[in-house]
Amino acid sequence: MGDTIFGKIVRREIPADIVYEDDDVLAFRDLNPQAPVHVLFVPKQVIATLNDASAADADLLGKLLLAAASYAKREGVDKEGYRTVINCNEQGGQTVFHLHVHLLAGRRMTWPPG
Ligand code: 5GP
Repeated sequence: MGDTIFGKIVRREIPADIVYEDDDVLAFRDLNPQAPVHVLFVPKQVIATLNDASAADADLLGKLLLAAASYAKREGVDKEGYRTVINCNEQGGQTVFHLHVHLLAGRRMTWPPG
């Protein structure tokens, strides 16, 4: 499984604006934010895409979502609402092949996504 820029951020080899960390999850602000709040929640353990996750990763996937929801509450955007997104592979718009959950908030989201 190839290393990515997110692996380097997890290992503190390159800087990021880290907003949350626990034993399994690191969260940092997106370099190119698409909303006033745009944070990426990444597992410290590398899973390239959602296709590569297995039943053994169920807890970890749940932790990513719960960390995103907790952060939204902490930022005070939980009541007005937000969006969580996992892009998978080319047509899904994935560009970094280290699975991550986007948390987007602070503006009205549109549906369907482009
Ligand atoms: P994807 O397209 O794979 O779902 O999302 C990758 C996200 O990572 C993009 O929103 C992009 O702006 C962000 N990104 C790419 N490189 C870096 C980086 O070096 N640092 C940070 N903080 N975000 C990055």
